[in-house]
Amino acid sequence: MPIRQLSETMINQIAAGEVIERPASVVKELVENALDAGASRVEVVTAGGGLNLIRVTDDGSGIPEQELALAVARHCTSKLSHDIHDIRSLGFRGEALPSIGSVARLSIRSRTAGGDSAAEIGIDGGRVSAVKPAAANRGTTVEVRDLFFATPARLKFMKGERAESSATSDVVKRIAIAFPAVRFTLTGADRSTLELPATSDTPEGRLARVAQVMGKDFPDNAIAIDAAREGVHLAGHVSIPSYTRANALQQYAYVNGRPVRDKLIAGAIRGAFADVLPRDRHAVTVLFLSLDPSTVDVNVHPAKADVRFRDPGLVRGLIVGAIREALAAAGIRAATTGAAGMMAAFRPGATPYAHPGPANGHRSYEAAYYASGSGGFDPLRSAQRPLEMGEARAPRNGFAESDQAAFDTGPLASADVRAGMAEPTEALLGMVLGAARAQVHENYIVAQTRDSLVIVDQHAAHERLVYEALKNALHSRAVPSQMLLLPEIVDLPEEDAERLAMHSETLARFGLGLERFGPGAVAVRETPSMLGETNVQQLVRDLADEIADNDTVETLKERLDRIAATMACHGSVRSGRLLKAEEMNALLRQMEATPGSGTCNHGRPTYIELKLADIERLFGRR
Ligand code: ADP
Ligand code: MG
Repeated sequence: MPIRQLSETMINQIAAGEVIERPASVVKELVENALDAGASRVEVVTAGGGLNLIRVTDDGSGIPEQELALAVARHCTSKLSHDIHDIRSLGFRGEALPSIGSVARLSIRSRTAGGDSAAEIGIDGGRVSAVKPAAANRGTTVEVRDLFFATPARLKFMKGERAESSATSDVVKRIAIAFPAVRFTLTGADRSTLELPATSDTPEGRLARVAQVMGKDFPDNAIAIDAAREGVHLAGHVSIPSYTRANALQQYAYVNGRPVRDKLIAGAIRGAFADVLPRDRHAVTVLFLSLDPSTVDVNVHPAKADVRFRDPGLVRGLIVGAIREALAAAGIRAATTGAAGMMAAFRPGATPYAHPGPANGHRSYEAAYYASGSGGFDPLRSAQRPLEMGEARAPRNGFAESDQAAFDTGPLASADVRAGMAEPTEALLGMVLGAARAQVHENYIVAQTRDSLVIVDQHAAHERLVYEALKNALHSRAVPSQMLLLPEIVDLPEEDAERLAMHSETLARFGLGLERFGPGAVAVRETPSMLGETNVQQLVRDLADEIADNDTVETLKERLDRIAATMACHGSVRSGRLLKAEEMNALLRQMEATPGSGTCNHGRPTYIELKLADIERLFGRR
């Protein structure tokens, strides 16, 4: 085939392939245009998930009649005059309107402040119609019908009305956080109404807007960030480590007011929270970066959501440093240490907290356990409390024959060591997880078998057991529930409330009774008995995340499993609960009887076993 110049429409459709991925991308481009035009009110209406209709109305500057034809022509923009390195508007490429017009039926009606009437132009699958007079107030209304009718291949990739509606809400919320002084509404038969009244462009106004979007309780559970380094300024809020989500969807980031989804920023947030959050939990964050526009490139991708910083190290360092400092200032310290620290602690000589007891060779295994075991799990605490074991005796044959004196006497006698347990029977010692001997640090059950030391994470273990029990009960369709004395109201982002209501039947199968409670809230009336006393607020939020993450793709069975897992996590014996000897042994027996109980629902081990032979090796006895 000879080389030919592509037609204008084909060029625009190719561009549309990149810029207009789904209805939400249209909404993003149109709302950006409204904001660039200085609007103080932006109204979005959708139908059919945005595939049938998207209409964005603003009260901005309007487009002069004689410029309407240019507005829908490729590479025509009023925003970029000479310097691609100095972009201060949301748009600059001049390709959104012609791209949309090439794949849908687009009409623009507009009136400027000075104009004495409005005018209208249409573009239908790439064909531009003549400019006509029209009636309208000041501002612009852009209507997009039958999105992708001209490119049916793209239409096939759409996820269904609900998923597309929800993607559009997310786009509007994301951008609304950066423009608190603008009033946004998002309505349509295909969705529940989102209304964000204007606040103001002040710190309080910005936080009020954030609360409108993320839920009223976010500000109460967040700490402010405000830091600068070498001309880069970072402001915003991050949640405290007890207020987390199961995914990163609630992390909002802005660069010079532009919503971005940037790997560097996401990675920096993860890094900043690494020491205070489990790996499967995510902080809720709203962060605004401001820097000289010439030091950041927003022209990386047509959708303009990616950015490239001239000095990525500076930006990352600023984010990590600022969040860590703010957490520290709020009195939040690392609560956990990783596996690497534990292994190091078990290596002979690697532990920084020297055992203060008798010289080598006179230490008992109990002493060894305390010195290295507790060091591995919680070095902060053990470092603060040097261990005195008193007169330690070396047992002849490991734990099986050691007495328990070390557990219940001396300066060590602390609340988190359950003492005075009966001597284990031979039968118990022969079990896989052995006989429970103590509970330490309020969460770890120390058990012994004939030839090993077993440490069980009681929270993780119990979580797994509840999970299995829930799944079994679900099978037999009998998950018992308990009525709450008073229904508990949970405030949530509207989308989450909607999603939960949508899945209320499924949740009811688990014994969780909830219903809508006005906009942005659900009322919980019943909880699964199996969970006992549980934090309903956190449970409901986690379930909303779980559903949001997996809404469209999952089969019912997978969804049920995931809901069971999320619930189980809430019904578990939290670390911190003191267990009696019988309770501990019962937990161990239940674990032995439950398939898959060696790992918790998140894949972490529920127990570790140290063979006596290995312990002896650590001491150079072998
Ligand atoms: P860009 O936003 O990159 O300039 P667009 O194709 O989105 O490109 O829009 C083209 C031009 O149309 C804009 O530069 C602007 O002048 C005009 N325009 C589009 N939407 C509006 C609006 N809502 N109000 C005023 N002018 C608008
Ligand atoms: Mg634009």
